Amino acid sequence: MDLDFGIGNKILDFWGMAGIYIHIPFCRQACHYCNFYFTTSAARRDELVDAIIREVELTRDYLSGEEIETIYYGGGTPTMLRTDQLRQITESIYRTHPRVRLQELTIEANPDDLTTERVAELAELRSIGLNRLSIGVQSFHEADLVYMNRAHNALEAVAAIQRAQEAGFQNLTIDLIYGTPTMSDEAWRSNIRQAFALGIPHISSYALTVEPKTYLDKNIRTGRAVPVDEAQSSRQFDILMEEMAAHGYDQYEISNFALPGHYAIHNTNYWRGKKYLGLGPSAHSYDGSSRRWNVANNNTYIKSIGEGKLPYKIEHLTATQRANEYIMTSLRTMWGCDLTRPEVAAYRDQILRALSDVAAEHYRLEGDVLRLTQAGRHYADRIASDLFADEE
Ligand code: SF4
Repeated sequence: MDLDFGIGNKILDFWGMAGIYIHIPFCRQACHYCNFYFTTSAARRDELVDAIIREVELTRDYLSGEEIETIYYGGGTPTMLRTDQLRQITESIYRTHPRVRLQELTIEANPDDLTTERVAELAELRSIGLNRLSIGVQSFHEADLVYMNRAHNALEAVAAIQRAQEAGFQNLTIDLIYGTPTMSDEAWRSNIRQAFALGIPHISSYALTVEPKTYLDKNIRTGRAVPVDEAQSSRQFDILMEEMAAHGYDQYEISNFALPGHYAIHNTNYWRGKKYLGLGPSAHSYDGSSRRWNVANNNTYIKSIGEGKLPYKIEHLTATQRANEYIMTSLRTMWGCDLTRPEVAAYRDQILRALSDVAAEHYRLEGDVLRLTQAGRHYADRIASDLFADEE
């Protein structure tokens, strides 16, 4: 396994590069498991776009002039904006930041939005750098989509992918969710294989989790939805890892799989501790020493930006917090946790002592690099917290 921080076959110097994330908080309907910030009312859509463009200007110094390598539109559902609005926001970034050298511009889209006309419009955004679509498929099976209350059906998922490919978007990623009570192990395997058959080079896959205060949480508690079974999720995570490995996909992060050359640059930069600026309601930013997050409310956001005030809360990270963040994120990647890295070097002995209590079959220590085994990946968060450095 490579020890460099290569993106697929390409080795990049991450230092001195940064990314911009834009949160578009609108959705057509509420998926029952979702706990992201969004609203199903698009009433203030135009005002929100104006506010984001204003926020681009107000935050112009946040990344200290670093080269912008990636832009990522997430949400919510970015394709709830018109294509000309996506263009306006992106152009405002080019105008405001002197050093935009885009390697990757991703837009998330839901299958029900990717009509032939819309895909053709999105293809025109290639002129401003759009080179990657992230499609929220979640499942190719109807019963799972109904359970999750997704807005699209199984046929639309396949058709949307094919339309995007026909329009020249080969750099596609899709999301797939496992562990829904409606999904047998065989159905899960066929979901994954459908993605292979469609020639998708990057797949993000997550276990269905029941977050507090979601519709799913409420429906399970009131007996209207079947609860999620952890043993099933665990089995299906193993199926996922085995299928991906057998078809040549690297598990470069616990929930992210890609053919060589197709690793997500934007997300990899998060995991490598790179700086990023988040725009829009609820978006998070990181400048290397502090994290801040915008208010998760469209009305408050629009009002505050209109008054020239950035509506965020901020947390300055201690050295210990930075070490623990590095442990948490790096252990989830195939590059592992390098105990000589500046974030954790001072805690090396403490981490090695804590490691002696972790089951031997859950990790490998090669030199100073600690990685999780397939068995260990089931317990990544717990192992990371067992290794956390203590605040001095
Ligand atoms: S489309 Fe995405 S952001 Fe919107 S409700 Fe569904 S999961 Fe949440």
